[in-house]
Amino acid sequence: MTKFKGYVLQHGTSPVNGSPFVVIMTMGSSNTKTGDMCQLWILHENINPVDAVNLGMDDTVCGDCPHRKQSDGSRSCYVNVGQAPNAVWKSYKRGIYGKLSDLNPSDIQGRKIRYGAYGDPAMISPSLITLLNEHAAGHTGYTHQWRQPWAQWCKGVFQASCDSFADYLDASAHGWKTFAVVAKGEQSFSGKLCPATAANSKAQCITCSLCDGAKTDIFVEAHGSGAKYVTN
Ligand code: SF4
Repeated sequence: MTKFKGYVLQHGTSPVNGSPFVVIMTMGSSNTKTGDMCQLWILHENINPVDAVNLGMDDTVCGDCPHRKQSDGSRSCYVNVGQAPNAVWKSYKRGIYGKLSDLNPSDIQGRKIRYGAYGDPAMISPSLITLLNEHAAGHTGYTHQWRQPWAQWCKGVFQASCDSFADYLDASAHGWKTFAVVAKGEQSFSGKLCPATAANSKAQCITCSLCDGAKTDIFVEAHGSGAKYVTN
């Protein structure tokens, strides 16, 4: 059976605004901090990621994430949508990816999956996540949608992304494992420091895999080395 560089796993409708989105899994990554994981991209079906950000239509896939572009033009999301997300969207439009039915369980057996290389994985069908996780060796994932009723299935599957101590307390009180950003030099308030952001560390998500929604609370220092690539 033909091996593809990526697979279109789902066409969905955003619970946020009713717009269509597409879920694509690419099979490799050269990201030295995460390691060679399969990556899931959640992208607006009809608007390229750059235009979606500029039009405010990225809420289709990012919900109410506070790191989206603000009215003053600032945007604190670590993802440069003009790079990998745009390249994946263009490849999708060129039709180079396989379908879900082209994917063999053996394609992901022994592999680890990074949910939401761009886009919030709470948008993805829970049954699709369950199916992939049954075959994969592990995963990481983060959601900013942890307060939304429709995202409660993500508890125990993805980390709740927290931007403050108040967020951390709220998410923890509701049973979530958290991924918190702590201001540089300020006292940490939750769990373990992401080992990949420790000085001189060679840790990678592919071997660490603590951010699977079930193991523990993690924090990174804002502006610390590597903090940007893991913040989600
Ligand atoms: S703590 Fe989370 S973000 Fe950091 S290396 Fe481990 S899995 Fe990756």
